[in-house]
Amino acid sequence: MQRVAILGATGSIGASALDVIARHPHRMRASVLAAGTRVDELLALCRTHRPEHAVIADAAAYRALRDGLRDAGLDTEAHAGADALDALVAGDACDSVVAAIVGAAGLSSTLSAARAGKRLLLANKESLVLAGELLMQAAQAHGATIVPIDSEHNAIFQCLAGNPGETPARITLTASGGPFRGWSRDALAAVTPAQAVAHPKWSMGPKISVDSASLMNKGLEVIEAHHLFGIPGERIRVLVHPQSLVHSFVDFADGSTLAQLGLPDMRTALAVGLGWPQRIASGVPALDLLAEGGRLDFAEPDLDAFPCLALAFRALQAGGAAPAVLNAANEEAVSAFLQGRIGFLSIPDVVAHALDAMPATPADSIDALLAADAWARSQACARIARKAA
Ligand code: NAD
Ligand code: MG
Repeated sequence: MQRVAILGATGSIGASALDVIARHPHRMRASVLAAGTRVDELLALCRTHRPEHAVIADAAAYRALRDGLRDAGLDTEAHAGADALDALVAGDACDSVVAAIVGAAGLSSTLSAARAGKRLLLANKESLVLAGELLMQAAQAHGATIVPIDSEHNAIFQCLAGNPGETPARITLTASGGPFRGWSRDALAAVTPAQAVAHPKWSMGPKISVDSASLMNKGLEVIEAHHLFGIPGERIRVLVHPQSLVHSFVDFADGSTLAQLGLPDMRTALAVGLGWPQRIASGVPALDLLAEGGRLDFAEPDLDAFPCLALAFRALQAGGAAPAVLNAANEEAVSAFLQGRIGFLSIPDVVAHALDAMPATPADSIDALLAADAWARSQACARIARKAA
C-alpha cells in the first residue's frame, strides 16, 4: 500500500491527485492532506479520504481543524504550520509526496521530501525555478525519485524512459498560448483578471492561469526543464500548439523525435507519477484525434506581446539568483494583478525592473536564494505601489 502525502490538497492538482488515488483503493491511499488556509475544504476532504494526518499552514486555524476533525468523529491528527508539514513529509507517514503548493511557499516541504528520499511528484514548479540546482542535488544525494507533474515535463519524462540518463539533443515545450493567443500588445493593456484566468484548455488555480496568459508559465517551465533534464536553455524551444494535445517533443542525436500526446487533463501525469513504472487508470479517456478536430498546429510564440517568456530565458542565461528574482517578482505582480491593483502589462514591467535592478547576489545556499527572493519581493512591491498609486 503506497501512502501518499498531498500538499496543496484543496487546490486543482490536489483534487486531481485525490481522484486518481480513489480509483486504486487496494494500491494506494492519501495518508497526509495539507492546505494553506481553507479549513472547511480541508475538513471536507478529510471526511471523504480519511487520512492519518491533516495539516493547515495557517497556525491560527489549528483549533478549527482539530475541533472539526473531532466533531466529525475522525481519527485524523491535526497539525499546523510549515515546520509540522516538513516533519510529516520527511517521516514515515508517507512514501510519496505530491508537491502541489503554489509558489515559493512550497520550497521547504518539497526540499524536505527530496532530503528524505521520497518519491516526489513535483507540481510546484516555482521551487525548481527558485532553487533547482540545490533541489536536484538533494534528490540525487538522498535517492529521491522526481516525477514531474507538469504536463510538458511529464511528457518528456515519458519520452526519456527508454533512454535513462540520456540528455536529449533538444526539447520542445508546447504552449497552448493561453486565453490571449493572437492578441496584440496594445489589446492586452486592458484585460481583466476574469479574462486572464479563463484558460481555453486547462482548468487550474488562479496563479498558474495568469502565468499561462502572460506566457510566464512557459518561461518558468523552460527553467524547470533545464533543471529536471540537465539541458541548457539554448537547446530548449517553445512552440505554441493551440490544441494542447501534444504535451512536448524530445529530439535525439539519431534524428528521432518522440512526443507524448493525450487529452489536457492532469490526472494522466499524476497517474504516471503514482503508478510508475506501471501504467494505471487515471479516469482520462484515450485521445481520439479525429474527435478533437483532426489537426495539430504549431507556431512561434509572439515575444513582443508576451515578453515574460523572453525574461525567463534571460534569467536562465544570467543564472545565479536571477531565476529566484524572476519568480518572486512575478508572484508579487500576479497577486497585485489578481487584486486589480495593476494592469496585465505591468506584470512583465515589474519583473523586468527587478531583474534590471538586481545586484550580483550569491546563489550557493537556500538562505542566499531566499534572501534574493525577499529582495525581489520588496523591489516588486515598491514598483507595484508606484503603479497602483
Ligand atoms: P491552486 O491555487 O488550485 O492550489 C494551491 C494549493 O496550495 C491550495 O491547496 C492551497 O491551500 C495550497 N497552499 C497555498 N499556500 C500554501 C502554504 N503556504 N502552505 C500550504 N499550502 C498552501 O493551484 P494549482 O493549480 O493546484 O497549482 C499548484 C502547483 O502546481 C503550482 O505550483 C502550479 O504551477 C503547479 N501546476 C499546476 C497545474 C494545474 O493544472 N493546475 C499544472 C502544472 C503545474
Ligand atoms: Mg505545464
